[in-house]
Amino acid sequence: MIGMSKKSLAITLSRLQGFTSANPALEQYLTESSLAADLLWDAHLRGELDGSAVVDLGAGTGVLGLGAALLGARVVLVEKDAQAAAVCRENAAALGLKVRIVIADVEEYSGRADLVVMNPPFGTRARHADRRFLSVAFALAPIVYSFHKTSTDRFVRAFSRDEGFAITAAVPVSFPLRNTMRHHRKEREFIAVTRYRFEKIYND
Ligand code: SAH
Repeated sequence: MIGMSKKSLAITLSRLQGFTSANPALEQYLTESSLAADLLWDAHLRGELDGSAVVDLGAGTGVLGLGAALLGARVVLVEKDAQAAAVCRENAAALGLKVRIVIADVEEYSGRADLVVMNPPFGTRARHADRRFLSVAFALAPIVYSFHKTSTDRFVRAFSRDEGFAITAAVPVSFPLRNTMRHHRKEREFIAVTRYRFEKIYND
């Protein structure tokens, strides 16, 4: 979108519909619009979005992928939960965006992209979901933006190194877990999360 500012991006994303009934087993946490805008704006300033092929893994209701599309990317959103994907489709239509939505497990998706954006399950409910998402992302694209629980930082660093990726940015964020899941009794709970940018290391 021509002339869009980071603030207007965040406002547009804040108006999107979220999960209607979040599924705890799938760890459906909506990324807060300002955190999504921060990530997307970083990629935008690096010139990584406009005209690029972007995949959003575990897209949920689409805040990351649709935001990338607003900034000029060609976007595929992969989401296993049909209900969330339906909301994502409505959000895309509301923004007048043409995107591809694939209802599938991320491990079934194969393709190539310039960039992956994702906020994967943190692996607290579905063990190793975070590792599976990273592994798929690294196979798809040379640049990956992702959120992970800060407590897993050592794993994230070791795993990405083993997979041939360098961490070029690690930004600590306070991640609000919206009160969308029944087992979260508190009104609003924040967890320490790190936003990473990974880049493939080429040895020649
Ligand atoms: N990216 C969205 C949603 C994050 S929550 C946002 O930032 O707001 C994680 C999402 O991953 C949920 O929508 C969940 O349904 C989806 N998910 C979990 N496991 C998955 C899998 N194996 N394959 C595809 N999607 C999955």
